[in-house]
Amino acid sequence: MPGLADRLNGIAISASAAMTDKASALKAEGHKIISLSAGEPDFPTPDHVIDAAFEAARNGATKYPPQDGTPALKAAVQRKFARENSLHYALDEILIGNGAKQIIYNAMMATLNPGDEVILPTPSWISYADGARICGANIVTVVCPAENEFRLAPEALSAAITPRTKWLILNFPNNPTGACCPEEDLRAIADIMLQNPHVWILTDDIYEHLIYDNATFQTIAQIEPRLKERVLTVNGVSKSYAMTGWRVGYCGGPRNLISAMNNMQGQTTSGINTLAQAAAIAALDGPQDYLLDRAKEYQQRRDFVIERLNGIPGMTCHTPQGAFYVYASVAGCLGRTSRAGHHIKTDTDFVTALLEEKLVATVQGTAYGLAPFIRISYATSLEVLAEGCERIKDFVLALT
Ligand code: PMP
Repeated sequence: MPGLADRLNGIAISASAAMTDKASALKAEGHKIISLSAGEPDFPTPDHVIDAAFEAARNGATKYPPQDGTPALKAAVQRKFARENSLHYALDEILIGNGAKQIIYNAMMATLNPGDEVILPTPSWISYADGARICGANIVTVVCPAENEFRLAPEALSAAITPRTKWLILNFPNNPTGACCPEEDLRAIADIMLQNPHVWILTDDIYEHLIYDNATFQTIAQIEPRLKERVLTVNGVSKSYAMTGWRVGYCGGPRNLISAMNNMQGQTTSGINTLAQAAAIAALDGPQDYLLDRAKEYQQRRDFVIERLNGIPGMTCHTPQGAFYVYASVAGCLGRTSRAGHHIKTDTDFVTALLEEKLVATVQGTAYGLAPFIRISYATSLEVLAEGCERIKDFVLALT
């Protein structure tokens, strides 16, 4: 049989997608699954956003777009960065992609050579490491421990930088922990990066609007303008505006990097869906007040889940200030046996047995690089969360 490329060795379907697929298969068999594994808002895309896509289609926006994004969406992104982040990018310093995911992949493909190092504060979203590995780069993890609220300790970052470091990746609010980066941490990180001019910085701000307890969001190029020429500020409409299926992400960054990324993008796609770009303009330029209402609702769900999980002996859970995930330790459950006889040695055993026995889908922390934890997404209704927490409790209480 003809062979496959070596670059895919060790690259598997992401654990959260695998868990979602497994849960869907069980659902198709007629089981009532409680799905707490998917990283997407349960809210609908707002009506005015959907209307904009219809209108664009009727007005003939159905031809190939410019590969770097429509001028109108790039201008809306330019306004967004200025309004919300005090960042001023020229239009040729902005790129639109098929989701933040493609933006990040473009950046890696455009810059990484085999043997380069990418510093990844861990636990982290799965795709950073796999994207870097596809490019032949090595991952250098910097653990952000639960005892430090999953924050990135500046000293630990400093110790990880070598002459081969090409990128530092920042993602706060964080997937999978929900951790945020307080201003004092961000300033200390910025100081370290000022001393390391050979390193690019990618900040993935996709959870910017999902922030709680009156915390405020800041991004690194905003607080340290001297770094702006090395920072790629990545964002998208998926999480903030409940638009995961529309596939629109964007970034601002230095002109030479954006140009290289655009070159990369031009070889893999002829631009981004025109109707989705029209919809993204409506999202970015339209009313923003409902984002606060949604954040309030997420906060209520977070509090509910945290309280329930911390009431289960064997589980502990810190209170994150952002995103829509909690990262609960299952250390107290390891070495025990479930009612159906599964021996729980790892967090992967835990989530597998939980799905099989209680039909609750979560994701193992091992997939994000820090065990033994489980990631629970609370981007779902309080009723579903109540049922999910009850089943988790039954599962844990039955461990012997
Ligand atoms: N970054 C992070 C941290 C994410 O969690 C996700 C979605 N799971 C993405 C990027 C991808 O976003 P998009 O839908 O814009 O590709």
